[in-house]
Order: sequence, then C-alpha cells, then structure tokens
Amino acid sequence: MGKWIRIAEARLSQSVGPEKEIRGWIRTRRDSKGGFSFLEINDGSCFGNLQVVAPAELENYAEEIQKLSAGCSVVVTGELLESPAKGQATELHASEVRVIGWADPETYPLQKKRHTFEKLREWAHLRPRTNTFGAVARVRHQVSQSIHQFFSEQGFYYCHTPVITASDCEGAGEMFRVTTIDLDGLAARGGKVDYKFDFFEKPAFLTVSGQLEAEIYATSMGRVYTFGPTFRAENSNTSRHLAEFWMVEPEAAFFDLADNMRLSEDFLKRVFKDCLDHCSEDMDFFDQRIEKGKVSQLQAVVEKPFTHLTYTEAIKILESCNESFEYSISWGTDLQAEHERYLTEKYVDGPVILTDYPSSIKPFYMRISDDGRTVAAMDVLVPGVGEIIGGSQREERLDVLQNRMQQAGLDESEYWWYVDLRRYGTVPHAGFGLGLERAVQYVTGMANIRDVIPFPRTPGNAEF
Ligand code: ATP
Ligand code: MN
Repeated sequence: MGKWIRIAEARLSQSVGPEKEIRGWIRTRRDSKGGFSFLEINDGSCFGNLQVVAPAELENYAEEIQKLSAGCSVVVTGELLESPAKGQATELHASEVRVIGWADPETYPLQKKRHTFEKLREWAHLRPRTNTFGAVARVRHQVSQSIHQFFSEQGFYYCHTPVITASDCEGAGEMFRVTTIDLDGLAARGGKVDYKFDFFEKPAFLTVSGQLEAEIYATSMGRVYTFGPTFRAENSNTSRHLAEFWMVEPEAAFFDLADNMRLSEDFLKRVFKDCLDHCSEDMDFFDQRIEKGKVSQLQAVVEKPFTHLTYTEAIKILESCNESFEYSISWGTDLQAEHERYLTEKYVDGPVILTDYPSSIKPFYMRISDDGRTVAAMDVLVPGVGEIIGGSQREERLDVLQNRMQQAGLDESEYWWYVDLRRYGTVPHAGFGLGLERAVQYVTGMANIRDVIPFPRTPGNAEF
C-alpha cells in the first residue's frame, strides 16, 4: 500500500520515489498503441492534473481501465517518476488502478465539450470539478485565509456577531424575516400577525451587517473584525449582488477616517499579493482564460498607492467628462455603478478611495464632518466590479448621533445599547465592510458574482 499524497504534492519533483497513492477523479483517458493508457487525474488539491501511465499488464486493464471515462473516481498506486514529456514534472506509473465509482459517460454532464457558466450554474453539484470552479474555490479559500491572517497580525480579534437580529443596521428595510409563525395557518384564518406570539416576541430578521455589534466589541477590545454570512433581500438581479454573501467587517477604536483608509488599502494589497504568491497556477489560468492581463494588473495594484478622491471632486469629474450616463449626476445624488466604473476604469484605471459623501445619502451612524453637510465615509472602488468596500468613521458624539437618529426617523429606544456606547467612555472609531465575493470577483476576473460563491442565492434561486 503506497503513501497517500495529494496531486499538489505529487507534482513537485521532490516527491519522486517509490509507492505513492493518488485518490481522485478521471478527467480524460487516452489509450496508446504501445500497450498502455494515459489517465489524467485531478483530486482538487491544485489546478494541474497528474498523468497516470497504466500498463496493459494490469489485471483489470481490459475489463475496467479501458472503460474509464470523465468523472470516475479511482485510487491509483504506483511509482512517481520524473516525466519525460513536457507539461508536467512527474507522472505516476501505476501498479494498481482501483475503480471506486463509475460515471456513466452517457449521462455525466461534464464531458469534454465546453459549457457556459450559465449552464454550469444548473450543475452546482458538479461544477467544482471543472478547471474554472476548482480555481475559484481555491482562490476563495486563499482570500478567506488572508483575511484572518491580516487582521490577526494587525491585532484585530475575530468576533462573532449574530445572524439573527432585531435591528436593521442600514435603516433601509430589504431584510429577510425570521419567524416561527405558522403563515399558512394564519392566512387560512385570515388573521393578523401578532409578533408577541412569535419566537423572539418581536419582529426578527437575518442580519444585513454585523457592524453595530462589532462597534460594541471595538469599544471594549480596541480592534475586532467579523466575518460571516450576510443577507439582503434586495431584488437586484445584477452581476454584483447576492441575497446571501460573506462580509468582513473590521472595526477599530481610536481610528479616524485616514486610519481607516490606510487599513483598507493595506488589507486589499495583502489579499491580492497572497493570491499572486500562493495561487500562482490558478492565477495564471485566470490571466490567460478569464481576464487577460489580470496578473500584471494585480501586481501593479499591489505596488502603487491607491488614488484618493472626495465625493465633491468625483462629481466635478463626472459632470465635466464627455461620457453619456444613463443616470444624471449632481452634488447630492448617489453614484450609480456606471459612475463608479467610469471613475475607477477610465479616470484612474486602478482602485479609488472615494471619501466625504453628502450626509443625506449615507446612514445615520457615519460621522458628520465640520462642514456640516458631508460625512466621514469612504468607499473603495475597483475596475470591473465597482464598490468592493464601504466604510466610515462612526459618529461618536452623543448629541450629534441622537440628532441624526431623530432626523432619520429611528426610534432611539430600539438602539439604546448603541447610544450607550456614546454615553460611557465614547471614542472615535471607524470600520468598513468588504464583500468577500466582490473581492474574489476582482482577483479572478470572473464576470458574475454567482460564479464565485459555491451555492449562489439570488431572487428565485435557492437550489442546492
Ligand atoms: P451596493 O451599492 O454595491 O449595492 P452597498 O453600498 O449597499 O453596495 P454596503 O452596505 O456598503 O453595500 O456593504 C459593504 C460591502 O458589502 C459592499 O461594498 C460590497 O462589497 C458588499 N455587498 C453589499 N451588498 C452586497 C450584495 N447584495 N451581494 C454581494 N456583496 C454585497
Ligand atoms: Mn456601500
């Protein structure tokens, strides 16, 4: 019995030597006239396959090996040798090929023919076996690991904020309701809902952000971050919105907007650099097959400082440029995706940090600036995706916060604990939210956000 190794390890020529065992799925089989077959095997550990040379002398050669097709699972034992052929460092000379599971070539969907990403979404249970979705899954893993490593190294503690919440962070609705009320029974009786009889004895929802709770821990622990699933019931069928996505939200006490901007830039650069350094084979694939030039683009982003623009400067640029936008723009209106993309793709051709938005278009918790009409907000925009980070310095002054809440029509008693943070030992503090999927989209160049999360949830779609 050989030592079981993953293909990622087997493909390094240092692991050449006797009796190795590889466990994976057949990608292709090619029979040679010389009395052996080549099997391309992938076990998901890396982009590349391992070539197995299976000689005709194997006892199940005619019976099984020559019937292997894409998707079959096998365990192959053999000697790992340096490959004489170009394109791979090693190949496995099989002494045994055990077939674990067959895959009927008549019905197995992932045949040699190329499928569109739309088609592959219907086969979300099989698409991670393709080159593209395997590569996306590994890069997504790397981005997630880098997030934890970066914040941990910067002294941020990982804090778990609730998934079920009774407060709406953005004050904007569009939340999924969580209830144990028997809706069918209620409808049949034509009854009115009384949340006193619901599980939490009041309306409850899936969280749209962990920020408010993260602020609680930031004003005790100094620096914290949350990283978890986030839910938005917005009915926007775009290539950048999901109903369920993962958000990273660092929050730091004694941070102002400039600190926050620096943190976001260092953070993104670290994530991009880690992907280039640790996922080079996957990144080469994205560079060649998904978005030409992606690798050199990311390298440049890692090396150059991000461009900073205020909202007011951005409006002037947008008003005086010769683009025809679908939505008109003037001071006080929110930027649409087309404006964000113009700024980051055409005006800068790189990441932009946009700051100091009008208070009228931003939520109540953002800190009012001395001019009285803008807030200490910052969005990070990147080419191809638009906004990937939204953040701000938070309002730490009790009376100013109370005023803003009143203007926004929020009931202070619902947020009594949030207000308390300004009553007892208040400090300047700031934070931001990064959508994990938007980051993976940017790193990989994948056009649709549905293709960078294993099981996308969008309006009308919760299969798998
Ligand atoms: P957008 O304007 O793009 O809809 P937003 O301003 O509503 O985003 P924020 O509330 O600022 O988003 O959330 C912080 C980050 O979370 C965003 O910068 C983005 O990266 C990500 N994000 C927000 N909504 C979604 C969504 N529906 N699907 C995936 N990621 C999202
Ligand atoms: Mn935002």
